[in-house]
Amino acid sequence: MILIVAEHTAGKLAKATLEMVTAARESGREGPITLLVLGQNVAAVATEAAAVADQVLVADLPQLATYNAEVWAAATTQIAQEGEAHTVIIGGSRSGREYAPRVAVKLDAAYLEDATRLSSNGAALQAQRYTYLARVTETVEADGLVVVTVKPGSFAPAAPAGAAGEQYDVDLTLPAPRVQVTGKSVEKSSRVALTEADVIVTGGRGVGSPENFAKYVEGLADSIGAGVGATRAVVDAGWRPYAEQVGQTGKTVQPKAYIALGVSGAVQHLSGMGKSKNIIAINKDAEAPIFKVADYGIVGDVNEIVPALIEASRK
Ligand code: FAD
Repeated sequence: MILIVAEHTAGKLAKATLEMVTAARESGREGPITLLVLGQNVAAVATEAAAVADQVLVADLPQLATYNAEVWAAATTQIAQEGEAHTVIIGGSRSGREYAPRVAVKLDAAYLEDATRLSSNGAALQAQRYTYLARVTETVEADGLVVVTVKPGSFAPAAPAGAAGEQYDVDLTLPAPRVQVTGKSVEKSSRVALTEADVIVTGGRGVGSPENFAKYVEGLADSIGAGVGATRAVVDAGWRPYAEQVGQTGKTVQPKAYIALGVSGAVQHLSGMGKSKNIIAINKDAEAPIFKVADYGIVGDVNEIVPALIEASRK
């Protein structure tokens, strides 16, 4: 079987999980696509998971209330062994990349990190990943049992296919973790998270200042219910938090619409958003590289165009 460890937050399946299901379907590997849901009070998540998977294994336990690398690695390993999984897919989030190598070691499996495409080459699982500042796309492959992490935003979210999968409760023998989470401060935001957003408005250095970023980028995003992204230039300048950075050293996104305001379109930025369904760029330089990937472009000054767009979208 193909085992996918589901990601979820606040009682909802994360988009990253649907992306991993697509990765599994495209991998060409045989066997049922099985989603493993780890957590506490996860019945609603399991029902959502069943819509896209052949089967769902649910471990609903108090010890799984909070993510912990040792516990997640032990749980995933145990289920992979019991189900004789040949492929284990884990999200390429910070936590996924923390516990996935542990799973590979425990299973004595090959480990492929940060896949942006999956396919089969005979018995081998083939993955593509970026290297050399995303200027090179490398193809790697491994035979037999493989643990693979999938770069978030690299696959389209899976739609339900056929009847809902069966759900099964599973028993786990879990270790007492050596590392304990002793505090958590959650940033409050009413805005949709970048990796979950269908529409993203991103601001680059061309918006001119942090004040303009708030006025134009956040203003337009809020008027259309979009997420907010930023280029590295803007993050490095301290205008915006790193969590909003899109690109090779930030987040990879694949929204239905990506609106780039004053963004030049450097290769490191494009590697994080180039697969967006529709790219709309506003830039005063007609030669800016962003126009090479844009589906729609406006050559002009954000100071003039964005206020008019916000006005129009509010009407
Ligand atoms: P600029 O390149 O300065 O572009 C600003 C644009 O705004 C220009 O095209 C200009 O014509 C336009 N403009 C100016 N004024 C206006 C106006 N009034 N109206 C309309 N348009 C206007 N970058 C990322 O974004 N994400 C990453 O993850 C990332 N990782 C990197 C990793 C490495 C190892 C390296 C070396 C670089 C990385 N970079 C990354 C940086 C990247 O190379 C670029 O420097 C950066 O993306 C440029 O950001 P920008 O488009 O905001 O700024």
